[in-house]
Amino acid sequence: MFSEVIGGDKIEHLSVGDMIRTVDEEMKDPQKKAELVKFLEKNYRGFYALEDVIKSLENRDTKSLLPDEIILALVKREITKRKGKVILLDGFPRNLDQVSFSLFFRDLVGYRDDPDVFILIDVPMNIINERIKWRRVCPKCNTSRSLKLLPTSKIGHDDDGVYLICDEAGCDGGKMVTKEGDEKGIEPIKERLLMDEEILKKAYSLYGVSKVLLRNAIPADVACEYVDDYEMTPEYSFEIVDGEIKTIEKPWIVADDDGIQCVSLQAAPVVVSMIKQLVEIFKL
Ligand SMILES: [Zn+2]
Repeated sequence: MFSEVIGGDKIEHLSVGDMIRTVDEEMKDPQKKAELVKFLEKNYRGFYALEDVIKSLENRDTKSLLPDEIILALVKREITKRKGKVILLDGFPRNLDQVSFSLFFRDLVGYRDDPDVFILIDVPMNIINERIKWRRVCPKCNTSRSLKLLPTSKIGHDDDGVYLICDEAGCDGGKMVTKEGDEKGIEPIKERLLMDEEILKKAYSLYGVSKVLLRNAIPADVACEYVDDYEMTPEYSFEIVDGEIKTIEKPWIVADDDGIQCVSLQAAPVVVSMIKQLVEIFKL
């Protein structure tokens, strides 16, 4: 949404998680693998022998972590592909050691004159959990929506209950499905989320780097003093009456990590808050 507002030609979203998944794919293709190894031979500096690192890339299961120095080299490779653009580096730093790396990142990648900023977003665990559990994905175009929090305009039903029908422009529309593992919610990534919290705290205490602070949740009892109804995420449910599907919309109240009852903001007000803070930081 942010890049839609700013202009998609000026900004590139670089997800470190997606980047690592792409590397896993490259390792399976002999030609791409050879190029990657060549790049690492030239650009990798670290405490593990490169052969060992490549072996661990070959036999990697998704749980094992790559050394920081490899992540850095790979991120540099991606950044050089995106010259002259604002880069939204998503999911970096990934651990506490990388926090200190990220401080020197601007120098490492040779963007010495580019201003940099940390963007920290606070989303309660329960909200992440509900978003994963109710997520539905279109098998044709990969659009993801939520049966509970962001349904499509078309709803269908069969023996298993109601389902979303993809209404993305250009997609011929199909039954949206649950992604494998989503039914477990945050359980498989809980450790990762607790680590993220530590990283956020550490990054928050840094001097010298400007920070944009975003929040997803506002305590319900004071929410109306800060936001309007349409800025809050409603909760949807469905009822089948005489073969017709009825959509029921009501306010969504959810406990944050301290047990305080909260409302969850829609994406747009969070993006507006991000833009306001960036304007102030960069004195635009
Ligand atoms: Zn679709």
